[in-house]
Amino acid sequence: MRKGKRGMNYYSTRDNTLRRTASEAILQGISEEGGLFVPQEFPAVDLAALMDLDYCALAAKLLSLYLTDYSEAFLQKAAQTAYGGARFSGKTAHLVKLEDGLYSMELWHGPTCAFKDYALQLMPLLLTEAKRINRDETKTAILVATSGDTGKAALEGYRDLPGIEIAVFYPDHGTSEMQRLQMATQEGKNVHVFAVKGNFDDAQTGVKRVFTDAAFAEECAAAGKRLTSANSINWGRLAPQIVYYFAGYFQLVRTGALALGQEADFCVPTGNFGDILAGYYAKRMGLPVRRLICASNKNNVLSDFGASGVYDANRPFYKTTSPSMDILVSSNLERLLCHESGDPAMVSGLMGALTKEKRYSIPASLQERIAATFDFGCAGEEACSEEIARVWQQDHYLADPHTAVALSVARAKRCGQVPCIVLSTASPYKFSGAVLRALGQNAGEDDFADLAALEQLTGVPAPAVLRQLREKEIRFDEQIEPEQILSVARAL
Ligand SMILES: *Cc1c(COP(=O)(O)O)cnc(C)c1O
Repeated sequence: MRKGKRGMNYYSTRDNTLRRTASEAILQGISEEGGLFVPQEFPAVDLAALMDLDYCALAAKLLSLYLTDYSEAFLQKAAQTAYGGARFSGKTAHLVKLEDGLYSMELWHGPTCAFKDYALQLMPLLLTEAKRINRDETKTAILVATSGDTGKAALEGYRDLPGIEIAVFYPDHGTSEMQRLQMATQEGKNVHVFAVKGNFDDAQTGVKRVFTDAAFAEECAAAGKRLTSANSINWGRLAPQIVYYFAGYFQLVRTGALALGQEADFCVPTGNFGDILAGYYAKRMGLPVRRLICASNKNNVLSDFGASGVYDANRPFYKTTSPSMDILVSSNLERLLCHESGDPAMVSGLMGALTKEKRYSIPASLQERIAATFDFGCAGEEACSEEIARVWQQDHYLADPHTAVALSVARAKRCGQVPCIVLSTASPYKFSGAVLRALGQNAGEDDFADLAALEQLTGVPAPAVLRQLREKEIRFDEQIEPEQILSVARAL
C-alpha cells in the first residue's frame, strides 16, 4: 500500500508508524496488529462557513476533510443518496426542545428507525468507492452478528450493492419481535439472515471464529473474496456520525438558544463508544462542545471507568430494556485512549491486558485528561423507566429506553448554564412493550398489539415502516447452530 500520500492519513492505535489513506483504512477495517485506524490530525473548521449548509452539503463538506482521497463530487452524491430525498423523512438530526436548556436530537427517522442508519446508509457507498479507488476487484462478504439494530441497518445499507454479499446472524429468541421481523422480511438479492441457536455471545463467537479461521482465510484469498464486518470499529462507520453534532449545534444557534461560538453539552446513550466518540472528533475540529456526557445503562462498565480509571469487564452481564447498550467491551474507547495519550505502545499494552485479564488501568494523568472533556453517568432499569414516565408526563415527549437512559443521566448532570442536547437513538416504537410498562400499562406477548396500544395511549404516530411489518412476507426463517456459520460464509 502507498505510504505518506498527501492528504489525510491514518495510523493504528497500536502502531503509529503505519500509514493508510482513508479508502485503504475503510477497505481494511481493522489494522493487521489488531488496532483501530485513527486520523493523524483533527481538521479545523470555520463554523460560520458551515452554519447555513443543509444536512447533505454539511456531511459532504465535513467528510471531505477526513476522506481526502475521495472526490468532493462523489461525497456530495453519496451524501445525497444516503440522507437526501425521503430517506430520513426530511428529518435529519431533528431537534426537539423538551424544556429550557434540554433538547432531544432524534436520529431515528431513517429506514430502520435507529441512529445506526446515519452510518450504515453511507458506509456501503464509501466501501464500494474504496474498492474502485484501490482497483480492488475482490468480492466482499460481510458477516454481522447482531443483537438487533445493527443487523437491520446493515441489511438496508448493503442491499443490492454489486460485488457485495451480506449475512446477518441474530440470537434465536434474543431480539424483540419487531427487530426479528425487520430482518426476516428484508428485501434484496444479496442478503442472508439466520437465527442462531443460543444467545448473542454464541452468535458473535461463531462469527469471530470464522474471521480468525486461518484455513478459511486462505480459501477466501484464493477465491478473490474479502471478509469484512459492519460494526463500528471501521472508520467509515464512525466518520459519518460526526456530522449530526454540527447539525444539532447549528440548530441551537439558528433558534437563538445560543450565539455562534457559545458552548453546548451533548449526552449520549453509549454501548460501543462509537456515537460519543464522533462527538469528540467534532469537538477537536472546533465545535464548541463543553462536555460529552457518556450515559450507560445497568451495564455500567464505562461509568465505573470514568470514576476510577480502571476498565473492568469482569462483571455480570445484564439483559436490559436498552439492549443496544448491553455491552461490556466498548471497542471505540481504544481510539480515545490513543488520541489523549498520544502513546500507541501504551494503548497496545492496555488492550493486551484487556484480552488476557479482561481489565486494565490507565495512568492518573490520562484519566484527568479524559475527565476534562468527558463526564460519565449511568441509569439502571428503574431510573430508565421512571424517566420514560417523567418525560412523558412533564414534557409530553415519548422516549425509547436508550434515549431515556441518557435523559436520566443528563438531568442528573445538568448545571443549567449550558444547553444540553441528548442524542435520541431509537424510535420508542421499536420497544413498545418496555415503554408501555414504564407508563404503567400492561404489555403483552405481541409487539404489534403493544405498538397499537402505545399509539392509542399517547396519540404519537408510530413509524409506518414498523406498523407495516406485519403485512410483509417472511423471507428468512432458518435456524442454525453457531458451528454452521462457517458453511454460510463459505457459500457467500
Ligand atoms: C447502537 C446503539 C446505541 C449505542 O451506540 P454506540 O455507538 O455503540 O455507543 C445506543 N442506542 C441505540 C438505539 C443503538 O442502536
